[in-house]
Amino acid sequence: MKVLCVGGGPAGLYFSILMKLYDPAHEVTVFERNPSGLTYGWGVVFWDDLLDSMRRSDPLTVRAIEQRSFRWVDQLVLVEGGQTVHLGGGGYGLGRQALLDLLTERALGLGVRIMFEHEVDDRIPPDRADLVIACDGVNSRLRHRYQDQLQTSIVVGNNRYVWLGTGKVFEAFTFGFTETPAGWIWFHAYAFNGESSTFIVECARETWAGLGFDGLSLDDSLRLLERIFERHLEGHRLVVHARDHRTMPWLSFQTVSNRRWHHGNLVLMGDAAHTTHFTIGSGTKLAVEDAIALADRLHEHEELPAALEAYGAQRRAALLLPQREAAHSAQWFEHIPRYVGLPAPQFATLLKQRRSLLLPRLPPRLYYHLHRATEEIGVWGRLWELASSWGGARYVRRRV
Ligand SMILES: Cc1cc2nc3c(=O)[nH]c(=O)nc-3n(C[C@H](O)[C@H](O)[C@H](O)COP(=O)(O)OP(=O)(O)OC[C@H]3O[C@@H](n4cnc5c(N)ncnc54)[C@H](O)[C@@H]3O)c2cc1C
Repeated sequence: MKVLCVGGGPAGLYFSILMKLYDPAHEVTVFERNPSGLTYGWGVVFWDDLLDSMRRSDPLTVRAIEQRSFRWVDQLVLVEGGQTVHLGGGGYGLGRQALLDLLTERALGLGVRIMFEHEVDDRIPPDRADLVIACDGVNSRLRHRYQDQLQTSIVVGNNRYVWLGTGKVFEAFTFGFTETPAGWIWFHAYAFNGESSTFIVECARETWAGLGFDGLSLDDSLRLLERIFERHLEGHRLVVHARDHRTMPWLSFQTVSNRRWHHGNLVLMGDAAHTTHFTIGSGTKLAVEDAIALADRLHEHEELPAALEAYGAQRRAALLLPQREAAHSAQWFEHIPRYVGLPAPQFATLLKQRRSLLLPRLPPRLYYHLHRATEEIGVWGRLWELASSWGGARYVRRRV
């Protein structure tokens, strides 16, 4: 089979590896617009479930990931003026570049062609390959071209965020909230190797404008954020990957979904098909699971349309829960003033409960006390958990 993957992110690279593992005779080419060794973003977090999914399909890649990952322990919630709350738990951090490097090495070793610095426009002649994978990320051009056929919907969040890095090593996953004259601003930070951490800054659009970020240069923005989070950064600088060295790459999160995942021989995968808000840290896992599902279905079905149909149906169903939880989590961070006046342990507990369907519908203190009470009483606690996670997110939808 001749396959073109447009986009050399985790989805495209892992899919190309799996195709070659299934059958070395497949001709697989990955087009990536960036040069080798250059990407956006910093580290990503993940948990054992990602490694478990991958272990079944490619144990060698899992070993490489384990060797390069940073194990963070505990989650800290720090609200200015309040006590530090420990939420426990742990997970892994891995630099996005490190992940791409090890996937690239594995793919090349298996005979995948990777064409770096090769930007693909939206006009790939259908006869150029048996299958074209649109794994070109959240702003997928290929998806955009066929948005009517794919029935794309995009919901744009109200908050502004920017994905930064720092030399300070946050050994625990840390949420830090600071009040400014323009409103609350916070960061999500975690180490992804022994010398650097991801540092994502987020705030309401009004706070962002009130602090003047809409008019500040890149340097001035970084220096202002360093002053705001001085206590946490302990003298370390904030750094950014930016194409344009004058403006800070602030974004509003886009939640992407598609009713159909293929059109002819073009199929969506990873962030091009769906996104889940970064506050649930699952985009990479879901992209990898898409790759596994598509490779499996292609090798199960004789006919391409049947394989693509089965893949889309399977993954749309798998996405229902994470997309709903991600929408609740995004909403929680869009309503910080609703929670931030609570005593620190209550605030931190509700932060941990942010995926809940019930939380936005009940007074926060009532939710907190019900949650505490149900934790004590076994079966009712399970019912509460179910009620909290069941149901649909009612986000305003904007067709594009
Ligand atoms: C702030 C933030 C934090 C995140 N944190 C986490 C986290 O902690 N854990 C987690 O699991 N996920 C996280 N994610 C999500 C994760 O980064 C994505 O879900 C994941 O990278 C999706 O993989 P992908 O391969 O589908 O797309 P991408 O990783 O976006 O890769 C797409 C690739 O396509 C290339 N491309 C685009 N257009 C073209 C074109 N026309 N021609 C050629 N190449 C093209 C791009 O250069 C890119 O390399 C986070 C996302 C954000 C925004």
